[in-house]
Amino acid sequence: MDTSTLCPLTEAEILAAVAAQRDEAVAFLQELVRAPSLLGHEASAQALMKRRFEALGLDVRELVIDEAKLREHPGYSPSLVSYDGRRNVIGVHEPRPAKAGGADDASAVRGRSLILNGHIDVVPVGAERLWTSPPFEPRIDGDRLYGRGANDMKGGIVAYTMALRALQRLGVEPAARVTLQSVIEEECTGNGALACLLAGYTADAAIIPEPFDELLSAQLGVMWLTLDVYGVPVHAAVAQTGIGAIEFAQHLVAELRKLEAKWNEPQHRHAMYCRHDHPINFNLGRIEGGEWSSSVSTHCRADLRLGFYPGVKPAEVRAEVEALIRQAHAAHPAHAGVEVEISYHGFQAEGLVVDLQQPALQALMQAHHDITGQPAATRAATATTDLRFFHLYGQIPSTCYGPRGANIHGVDEWVSIDSMQQVTAVLALFMARWCGVQRAG
Ligand SMILES: [Zn+2]
Repeated sequence: MDTSTLCPLTEAEILAAVAAQRDEAVAFLQELVRAPSLLGHEASAQALMKRRFEALGLDVRELVIDEAKLREHPGYSPSLVSYDGRRNVIGVHEPRPAKAGGADDASAVRGRSLILNGHIDVVPVGAERLWTSPPFEPRIDGDRLYGRGANDMKGGIVAYTMALRALQRLGVEPAARVTLQSVIEEECTGNGALACLLAGYTADAAIIPEPFDELLSAQLGVMWLTLDVYGVPVHAAVAQTGIGAIEFAQHLVAELRKLEAKWNEPQHRHAMYCRHDHPINFNLGRIEGGEWSSSVSTHCRADLRLGFYPGVKPAEVRAEVEALIRQAHAAHPAHAGVEVEISYHGFQAEGLVVDLQQPALQALMQAHHDITGQPAATRAATATTDLRFFHLYGQIPSTCYGPRGANIHGVDEWVSIDSMQQVTAVLALFMARWCGVQRAG
């Protein structure tokens, strides 16, 4: 299909439409940042998304997540909190049916369908005293909008929503089905995006405006695992006769670090990660244990996040890690009486490599070039995203591409408003070319 015949819009028209709605886009982002959509608390932000999608004239659906239906899927990750009252919000644009014999009318030409997906959940804010201003009170400083979730990835959600709005402003609408998804739990399981896939949402292409202004060429696998260590408790006065659970957990983590170092060695790397500084990270994200200062600790829980390369199955990682923990336990000189349990909650996410030669992704790169005047860059991410559901399990040509910013998962997270506007224009142009356009009904 020659998409140029489907899109009569020029780059300049799209840029002008996006520029004209800049204040609206910023206000929308501020409103979204103010809705603190931490794990389990996504409802107020999702209510905003529902209203936005309705305002675009979309057919809006709320998708309840039925965990029983996800459990047998290879992309499922064990949940952390109940799904009661927590929903994905989906807005569907359906083009008007083609007119018979209307060959001279662009509306007679059917384009290709598209999913634009974003996650509404944000990661914990951490110690608020480290933030320059409160994380859920958006603050603008020049081009930067600060706040938890501003970059990861409410700026991206604003970009795809305002991209469709820009086309409407120009009096047109996509000539193919466009599905906007605002999903929960990208940051810990991906079960929100998985639920959409299993509910039958598919398309000829999918884009996730995650905070990379480059196209994602690969992403790592990510696994969360929990170690529960039970020590040999005694009075602190004779601590040398017992084994503290905290100290033993530290020993196990130190042994795991050796595996992390091994996977980062050049000969163990995946080709997509040969130039990275340190692609594989084992993060000790949370540790909890002990009773008080004068007792040797009886219990310690350590929550870790392990990265691993594309092509490795989560089950293989679990087998390797469990064997390592068993060995490390047995090798400790004072292991007698110490118990170690391993469990999995959250990500059991496989990695992937994207074929950027696919027509949809070439078209996205072309749109980036035509809007920005620069060739699109690509990056192999050292994290995971919901892309795996589209790519690995939906067989949908897909990538991530979104606004630039910094400090995601850290403090003083910010997104560049100019970048968000630029991504909005790129997505609008891509959507117009990929889906084709018809005069708004
Ligand atoms: Zn994200």
